[in-house]
Amino acid sequence: SPKVLPLAQHGIHRDRLSHAALKVVTRLQEAGFEAYVVGGAVRDLLLDVDPKDFDVATNATPEEVHHLFRRSRIIGRRFRIVHVMVGPETIEVTTFRGGEVDDTSATGRIMADNTYGSQEEDAHRRDFTVNALFYDPSAETVIDYLHGVRDLHARKLVMIGQPARRYQEDPVRMLRAVRLAAKLGFEIDEHTRKPIRAHAHLLKNEPPARLFDEMLKLLTSGKAYACLAMLRQEGLSRGILPLLDAVMGEEGSDRFLQLALERTDARIRQDKPISVGFLLATLLWHQVVQAQQKYLDQGEKPMPALFQAMADVENAQDNEFAIPRRFSVTMREIWTLQPRFESRVGQRPYRFVEQPRFRAAYDFFLLRAEAGEVPQALAHWWGAFETADEAEREALIEQAK
Ligand code: ATP
Ligand code: MG
Repeated sequence: SPKVLPLAQHGIHRDRLSHAALKVVTRLQEAGFEAYVVGGAVRDLLLDVDPKDFDVATNATPEEVHHLFRRSRIIGRRFRIVHVMVGPETIEVTTFRGGEVDDTSATGRIMADNTYGSQEEDAHRRDFTVNALFYDPSAETVIDYLHGVRDLHARKLVMIGQPARRYQEDPVRMLRAVRLAAKLGFEIDEHTRKPIRAHAHLLKNEPPARLFDEMLKLLTSGKAYACLAMLRQEGLSRGILPLLDAVMGEEGSDRFLQLALERTDARIRQDKPISVGFLLATLLWHQVVQAQQKYLDQGEKPMPALFQAMADVENAQDNEFAIPRRFSVTMREIWTLQPRFESRVGQRPYRFVEQPRFRAAYDFFLLRAEAGEVPQALAHWWGAFETADEAEREALIEQAK
């Protein structure tokens, strides 16, 4: 039977939940179902971190959940879940999973996982003990089947069950281990850590879209730099995803990349928005520069060389699923605008600063300047030009001649 911790032992008041999470749990309970906040949100609340989002687990089936909430929809095939929209928030509601994994491939990979079970079975199907805690807002209790609270206080990520088997079922758990350890400042328990190296190759068979999503979470965790160092250390950096190879290629020696990741980490920790297109543009930039040089050496002119280089780098990302279009468009724009910083004659600077993408391109150029790739003075000039009035602009153009 689980440990049930009262408020006095865990200190999480129900008002720490978002309005939407509280409403979804309450409505389900009032309809006679069991319902709890579960997973990362409970873990974060116990660590006194603001949860990014709230997940709810219940014994109601997806259809029953959908029926209770007008603004909801059932999504997913392999894992059917319900998205419930309350105001601007979306709550993910999952039905307790249980029993044996009902469909695994020859390699032990989970293919389908829609057998419903009890709360206890649901706890066992989660990844780490600290991610398998439930919170009941009406009783203000934390329910712990697997010593999650103990491991949380020891700041350890412990895989539930046999780690090797759990990685075979779902290789992405290896990336989650690294990301969560870096994000939370936890250690990965030795038994959980040890099989990672030998199972790393399994990630190659994952759908690129899922790997991209996980990579994105990693890069936007606020601890991207630490994550990448740990991936390398655990043997997870090579041959998984072309994007990761590109980032890992430089063994930390690439000043530009380091600055870019530190900038992203800092923005995320300050709760500032980041642009994924911008981030991807930085991650792949040194590949673009190298490829462009190759074409320049072959006698190509700078702009055509840049365009061919961009195409090469994007093609190396394998297929259209690796980098979704909504990001690659921004990425390409930022790259394409870089040469325009070299040209400061006539009307060109005036037109350039009016470009809707000037800001993003300029931020990128600033990073290049900081990395010593282009003159600091030139970056400074553009910063001055952008904010200058008419007379000052004329003087700046004169000065640049
Ligand atoms: P984050 O802070 O990044 O949101 P999280 O632990 O909440 O971390 P989610 O992807 O939101 O991560 O998943 C919610 C919960 O679902 C997890 O806490 C865990 O219990 C469970 N879970 C997620 N992915 C897996 C997986 N691959 N295998 C088993 N359980 C998982
Ligand atoms: Mg979460």
